Amino acid sequence: MTESMAASVAPSDLLRQRVGRLVALTSVHTAFDWFSDNTRQIGDWQLEVTEIPAPPFAETRRAEWVRQRFIELGLKEVHLDSVGNVVGIRPGRDAGAKFTAMCAHLDTVFPHGTAIKARREDGRLYGPGISDNSSGLVALLALASAMKEAKLQTESPLVFLANVGEEGEGDLRGMRAIFGNPRWRDSIAYTLVLDGGGTESLITEGIGSRRFLVTVRGPGGHSWSDFGAPNPILILARAIDLFSRTPISTPPPRSAFNIGVISGGTSVNSIPETASMKVDLRSAAAGEIDRLEQALRDALNRAVSEYHPPPGHKFATVSYDADLIGNRPAATLKTNAWIAEVIRAVDVQLGIVTRVQRASTDANVPLALGREAVAIGAGGTGGDAHTLHEWFDPANRELGLRRILLSALVLSGPSE
Ligand SMILES: [Zn+2]
Repeated sequence: MTESMAASVAPSDLLRQRVGRLVALTSVHTAFDWFSDNTRQIGDWQLEVTEIPAPPFAETRRAEWVRQRFIELGLKEVHLDSVGNVVGIRPGRDAGAKFTAMCAHLDTVFPHGTAIKARREDGRLYGPGISDNSSGLVALLALASAMKEAKLQTESPLVFLANVGEEGEGDLRGMRAIFGNPRWRDSIAYTLVLDGGGTESLITEGIGSRRFLVTVRGPGGHSWSDFGAPNPILILARAIDLFSRTPISTPPPRSAFNIGVISGGTSVNSIPETASMKVDLRSAAAGEIDRLEQALRDALNRAVSEYHPPPGHKFATVSYDADLIGNRPAATLKTNAWIAEVIRAVDVQLGIVTRVQRASTDANVPLALGREAVAIGAGGTGGDAHTLHEWFDPANRELGLRRILLSALVLSGPSE
């Protein structure tokens, strides 16, 4: 999912002093204390939200739960937008200033009907989606709570976003809607994407991906009487075999491909009419994705052209479609971006060793527009994401929350 990159330059002394002054403020201490005093509450929220199913394109129930919490925590103008993102504002002193956005995705990879039970055991939390991204969602709630408790006043406003459509075929539709909305497009200056556990990650490069549903079609038929008709499963298998030999560039930037789903056929004694697969192509370089797409098409063309009907056979038609079902832009944060410098200064202050990484996240959308955006962990540690055995260890989660809070405070320029 993520890939480490070389560390960057140290933050300036001025910025480090500014972070040092912030940490000395009583109000910031009060907010920090809220995190350490409320670990149980944060964990309870996490268990509760995990048990509200949120498959791609069906996040509404979970969104409604988050909306209620946003209202209770005193955020303003709380609402669901046209695609189902939950939006809540924390105004700053300067009503005309640009926003700092803090986002966490609502959706999970688990389809309708998945039995989802969350539990706490020996201090750890378990449940599908408990880390990715219940940990990000509850980080939003913890941040809003701590800021409320500490009566923190920022100069520019903050917008809290629980967005839809990050996973799989959601194709970042939640973030696309935010950055396609005239209200937000030019008014969000900085975006902090909170995705999964972790305290050290700083994702500054968005891995692009392109996804296809490939369907091979033939006339179908009876396994005995129509023998010799093109078999889409065999042709698809041949194409997969050819494509799987495509060489992959070695880092940097790395590329990858995956065939994640195959399906087709109706019965053991029927020649299938269709066979299909879902293919995921990824790279940090747009040109690499183009190359992989061409290799996929070459493999399909060759597999189809290799089919030769027996002499005089009536069935000779075979074809394929490759439908684009996902397209995430590859994009990189510009060097010396303020948002990355701020996080590195916060990390120095908190004794965190920053790990700069690349991954495909909601940050791809603002990054592709040339905006300053990063994805970072929501604190604690998580594992086995996208499986039913997913876990989250909240030990020292407050360090990750302090990191997010301080970064947001520097970005939104609180009065000192
Ligand atoms: Zn995620």
